[in-house]
Amino acid sequence: MPSPRYFLTHFMPFTGYPYTGAPAACNLCGSDESIVVAETDRRLKTLRSVACTQCGLIRTDPMPTVAELADYYATAYRADYQLAFAGGPPRHHLNRSAREAAFRAGLLAPKLKPGARVLDFGSGSGEFLAAARALGCEAIGVEPGRDYAAYARAHHGVEVLDDAGDDRFEPGYFDVVTTHHVMEHLRDPADVIERLARWLKPDGVIYAAVPNMAATGKPPHERFHFAHVHGFVRETFDLTARRAGLVPHEDYWREDTTVVYRKTDAPVPRIAAPGLAERLAVALKPMPAAAYLASGAWIWPMVRRNAKAVRDGLAKR
Ligand SMILES: [Zn+2]
Repeated sequence: MPSPRYFLTHFMPFTGYPYTGAPAACNLCGSDESIVVAETDRRLKTLRSVACTQCGLIRTDPMPTVAELADYYATAYRADYQLAFAGGPPRHHLNRSAREAAFRAGLLAPKLKPGARVLDFGSGSGEFLAAARALGCEAIGVEPGRDYAAYARAHHGVEVLDDAGDDRFEPGYFDVVTTHHVMEHLRDPADVIERLARWLKPDGVIYAAVPNMAATGKPPHERFHFAHVHGFVRETFDLTARRAGLVPHEDYWREDTTVVYRKTDAPVPRIAAPGLAERLAVALKPMPAAAYLASGAWIWPMVRRNAKAVRDGLAKR
């Protein structure tokens, strides 16, 4: 168990997180050059985020180490963001996952044919795997979160791996690969997308979704979150896919950073987005903390989070 002090430091505004980290080059283009886009996260804790000057990919700086991220997931993340301390995924999370899985299965219906091989990378509580299997697909998940993987196996009877290294599957094995709100949590998202693309058949499709850092309607710092060590916008998400030999599939609906990609044989261009980092720095320019507190914009997200916790507490009884 972490000390109460460690736990508390994850919740105290205007202080930093208990981590040291290390400087990292851009995982997408390799550049070391960056500009600062935020110094605060959604709970008004200090957390520096930078945008890569060459390609615009946003990352936490310094980057938490593997061990520091593991510590965070084992303690503060579970309690704070998933409210999973009562054991197993909370009900509102399961409801949301079920809705999202139904949407994803509908979108990918042309490819989810009987016998199709489907991988869900970051399969969570297993709703999409269950939906794919119900359509006759051969579905397998990868999920490092033990509670979620155990829930998926127990409640949906689906196959879920804890992890999958490069040689776990043969190149060109899957017809469909999906990954929903996973890449923003990874220290090496561009490398992981390349691995997923290798496992995909030449005519396969990859559904990939991440939060859009440029989404309107949120105070800028609300988008920053310790667990999200990378931040994408439409351009950088497409560049990440492009490096992996993927392009947006013309036959599928897309919205910003929720995309179905296909493979292309066209050579990979230089990975760059001139001026994007500067535009992001402007778009994400923080509201001063005092103005934010006075605006009351923090009240509703807090009320919503607490209401969900109360509902789940009642539902369990
Ligand atoms: Zn870059």
